[in-house]
Amino acid sequence: MPIRATKRGLQRTPLDRDCEVLICGASFAGLAVARELTASGADVLVIDRYEIGERQTSACGIPTDWLEQLELQGALQQTFGELVIHTPHTTVNYRLPWTFSTFDYRTLCGLLADQGRFTFETAKVDSRAGQVVHTDRGDIKATHIVDALGWRRVLGAGDNIQPPDALLSRGLEVHPHGSGSDMEIWIDRSYVPAGYGWSFPAADELRIGVGSFDPRFHVREPTERLATTLGSETIRYQGNWIPHALREAAEDGVWFVGDSAGHCLPLTAEGIRTALYFGLAAGRELRETLAGRKSAAAALRSYGAFSASHAAPYRWMLRMQRLVPRVAPRLLAGSLRAMQSRHFLDWAFGHYLEIAHPRFVAAAPRPAQIGVSVP
Ligand SMILES: Cc1cc2nc3c(=O)[nH]c(=O)nc-3n(C[C@H](O)[C@H](O)[C@H](O)COP(=O)(O)OP(=O)(O)OC[C@H]3O[C@@H](n4cnc5c(N)ncnc54)[C@H](O)[C@@H]3O)c2cc1C
Repeated sequence: MPIRATKRGLQRTPLDRDCEVLICGASFAGLAVARELTASGADVLVIDRYEIGERQTSACGIPTDWLEQLELQGALQQTFGELVIHTPHTTVNYRLPWTFSTFDYRTLCGLLADQGRFTFETAKVDSRAGQVVHTDRGDIKATHIVDALGWRRVLGAGDNIQPPDALLSRGLEVHPHGSGSDMEIWIDRSYVPAGYGWSFPAADELRIGVGSFDPRFHVREPTERLATTLGSETIRYQGNWIPHALREAAEDGVWFVGDSAGHCLPLTAEGIRTALYFGLAAGRELRETLAGRKSAAAALRSYGAFSASHAAPYRWMLRMQRLVPRVAPRLLAGSLRAMQSRHFLDWAFGHYLEIAHPRFVAAAPRPAQIGVSVP
């Protein structure tokens, strides 16, 4: 349970405080790191420019088992056993070997935060000099610094490459009121030359959007067109850049987790379960050094090596991301139909889930099992 110390308006006093672990970013990656540190007894400070769960950062779709393993089912909104893919020449229904669910962002972040024990402050992170992080409320010195701030990689060393030159995709969605029973994808060049459109129902709202692998292609007009075609309102926009290439997860003494390390998967732009997965991995290595079993440098090196050991599937998915838009639409339709066999789908989606499998959650003891009561 975080101790909330958020300051607003006149209460937004200077923040002058050192800590053992400073986690910058209180979304999927940052909160997963914090969760793993619950039993460490360390002085953990989490900062974000917004309140926890205040600003949704995605369409919030995830393999259901990740919610179950992390005991976050309270945030679940809708579950799907099939993926419906539309192209101009065909529609296929893929029966998935595991289910996918949408969830409520604010609820999930709240539940995940409640599994941790840390102090939370709102502050905008500006930059870093060594072990000191500069924020709009002052400087914070920390023994261990985690950058879970998303694609900007604010705390990285050297030049911070910005879009459109960085290896980023872009995505935008609207959240109209409404309902549906299918998780749908559109691979259609009339919406986006390289990328896809989506509609994810989430209880009483739809999350309809378009993502482009080419950061120079603007997605507002196609997002609005897709929503209008589906008879939905274009309201409540949410969009961002999405990394599609792994970056160093351990650099200059800093732990990069989630989008800041390029952990979002290319092709599908699925970045929530990977942010959670690498967040747990980073937290576990941090725990090793906090317990005195590893030096800080060795723990960070192990985490960096763990992240890098996933390079092969990321490279493969990036190749597919570049290939799919080049396939002629009729050939793509034929290929998608040919892939409908149960055997192939079990194999393909099984491998896909393996990249960041929910069994990883149970691979280490949960905080409550280590003998620390979680209030
Ligand atoms: C439109 C869209 C839809 C998507 N849909 C899905 C989906 O359905 N499923 C899926 O798996 N992935 C999806 N993604 C990708 C997914 O959102 C990201 O990969 C995921 O959010 C990464 O998690 P993170 O914790 O690393 O970063 P984020 O979720 O981006 O969190 C970063 C945190 O850092 C804070 N922050 C940023 N800068 C600063 C600063 N300077 N100072 C202080 N705080 C700061 C932010 O407020 C935020 O809380 C989608 C992406 C987009 C753009």
